[in-house]
Amino acid sequence: MKGRLIRTFLLFGCSTLLIAGCSRNEPAVTEEPQVAAAAKEARAAWVDAKRLANADDEPGNWMVHGRTSSEQRFSPLDQINESNVGKLTLAWYTDLDTNRGQEATPIVVDGVMYSTSAWSKVQAVDAKTGRLLWQYDPEVPGIWDVRACCGVQNRGAAVWKGKVYAGTLDGRLIALDAETGELIWEVNTTDQAQSYTITGAPRVIGDKLVIGNGGAEYGVRGYVSAYDTETGEQLWRFYTVPGNPADGFEDETQEMAAKTWTGEWWAQGGGGTAWDSFAYDPELNLVYIGTGNGSPWARAIRSPGGGDNLFLASIVAVDAETGEYAWHYQTVPGDTWDYTAVQHMVLADIEIDGRERKVIMQAPKNGFFYVIDRETGELISAENIMPVNWATHIDLETGRPVETPDARYDETLAAKKIAPGPAGAHNWQPMSYSRDTGLAYIPARQSPLVYRLNENFERGPIGFNLGINTWDPPEEFIDLAPEFGEEFQGLIIAWDPVRQEEVWRVTHTHFENGGLLSTAGNLLFQGNADEELVAYNAETGERLWSAYTQTGVLAPPITYSVDGEQFVAVVAGWGAVYANLMGVVMNPEGKKRNVSRILSFKMGGDAVLPPLPDLPAVPSPPDRFGSEVQVDAGSRLYARYCSICHGAAVIGGGVLQDLRHSAMIGTAGAFQSVVLEGAFLGKGMASFAEVLSEEDAEAVRAFIVDQANQ
Ligand code: CA
Repeated sequence: MKGRLIRTFLLFGCSTLLIAGCSRNEPAVTEEPQVAAAAKEARAAWVDAKRLANADDEPGNWMVHGRTSSEQRFSPLDQINESNVGKLTLAWYTDLDTNRGQEATPIVVDGVMYSTSAWSKVQAVDAKTGRLLWQYDPEVPGIWDVRACCGVQNRGAAVWKGKVYAGTLDGRLIALDAETGELIWEVNTTDQAQSYTITGAPRVIGDKLVIGNGGAEYGVRGYVSAYDTETGEQLWRFYTVPGNPADGFEDETQEMAAKTWTGEWWAQGGGGTAWDSFAYDPELNLVYIGTGNGSPWARAIRSPGGGDNLFLASIVAVDAETGEYAWHYQTVPGDTWDYTAVQHMVLADIEIDGRERKVIMQAPKNGFFYVIDRETGELISAENIMPVNWATHIDLETGRPVETPDARYDETLAAKKIAPGPAGAHNWQPMSYSRDTGLAYIPARQSPLVYRLNENFERGPIGFNLGINTWDPPEEFIDLAPEFGEEFQGLIIAWDPVRQEEVWRVTHTHFENGGLLSTAGNLLFQGNADEELVAYNAETGERLWSAYTQTGVLAPPITYSVDGEQFVAVVAGWGAVYANLMGVVMNPEGKKRNVSRILSFKMGGDAVLPPLPDLPAVPSPPDRFGSEVQVDAGSRLYARYCSICHGAAVIGGGVLQDLRHSAMIGTAGAFQSVVLEGAFLGKGMASFAEVLSEEDAEAVRAFIVDQANQ
């Protein structure tokens, strides 16, 4: 069940939500832009191909998502460095008016920062002072929360020749005037009758934009589209999985892909959604697409006669001009574990075996680190960065993983604990590659899961369509809880991509943390679940500096400079799927919260965060009611429909409503008004009347009340 911030709104009231009041429907703030003097002469956000190709000549700007098209997230700036980083202090902060997890990478051009926040809002901020110049709210309907597997986050904007572009959760691509924040054009990139969502940042590829979508947890067919930056006209579309052969294939590539599928996969959607990662090589004129998992997860349901199921879990290179297929490398043939290869891809030219190679590097969910020739797609090397038990190794001759005998739970029909689980050994949080140290820094994790095929799977109209039984019955999640602490771990792995070995590691308290930034100051920056932004020595991993952020950090930091001063900025704000689902281990004391802000640090900054308000008192729960059978039935329904947002075992993550403390569990009528009638739809809590009866809702309430009394 999804709810939007009821608790946090109660906590903070409106007073600290400075920029646009409490209502997400309030008009955007539009003040006169007052940017740094140098920028006044230039047109706002005027980035073009020449400027981008020479990005290292203006290291003070962060003009595209990964700083350059190669997505290295390495900055040549070194004013802040290993010897002085201890003096880094807060320069400014800007409150955001959405209290959900924040995942954006800001763009900075000529003293102006362009960022996004939850619910696909877009901001322009004076990068020197933090002053909000404008905000655009695309007014995404609350119902989209339930169609987004992993929250209403947004990972950032793109800018090009005076316009700011962003994807919206409900599948639109919008173009805004960089100067004013006014809408110039918008296009629907998806069929809005299906559970497609956009959370990723569009990328500029020449005078085009490329954007993907998510939805493989619900049953959609993935694709990537390119649009004209000026007009919004669709230029090409590449499907990541084939459609129904009876409808005719779009091209030969789709026909080739269809030969690797069996059964009636199209009726299940197929998946393969490219929801986050792209890279672009302007010299080779190739766009690299990271594709997602199969839909549903279990191949035995999706493609019952087996098959590799192209292009699931792959890196696919396509021609930037036409979208025509060039090559692919599939990390997991016949995916059945939600092993997306959507994770961040880095382009670099590195020497391997005495030869300079143009490579693409990725650490997808499946636990291995891949170095691939980006001209041809040839696998150069692959080693696991974390313990894995689904495969023993990657065979370099064939390029294929060598699977362990009982890893395919959907074929053995036996429950099996697999590492990594669907949270991955690495998820969307971007890694960084330092040209100075030659190391890739990966925000890695250990996160096993027990998989078991749902032999009675039927595609439902709302909620996940995974084909596994992990959420029904829920015992496995509850039983796993003690192991979460021991087995679930978050780390930074500093990885040598040439030798394919670990150089150093940092171990975190929790398994969910932020993305990474490395700099020429021999620094590595990361925010974390322990509510801090930390700087490490990039060579050794030694912890050099930290700042308290008042909230967990998921987003990757960036660095930029204005008027000769270097800043390090991050969009802070705890939340998203794992924070919500796993409150049982990450928020057992109920102290986590979302405080959404852009924070920017510099030498001798003098800003101070306002003190946090006290957490509200925990109300006494209503009296237990219902039979054991009813509570048990409620626990199963809760696990399937509610736990992903409101937490396993009804322990909230500190972001969405902790249902044990909700006033709505007191009476059947109040509970049903929310769960069946959609009273909180505007906040993202949909009606579940399609799948839950009044009796079901009462069973869920009985289970919640039972848990509240534990
Ligand atoms: Ca997935």
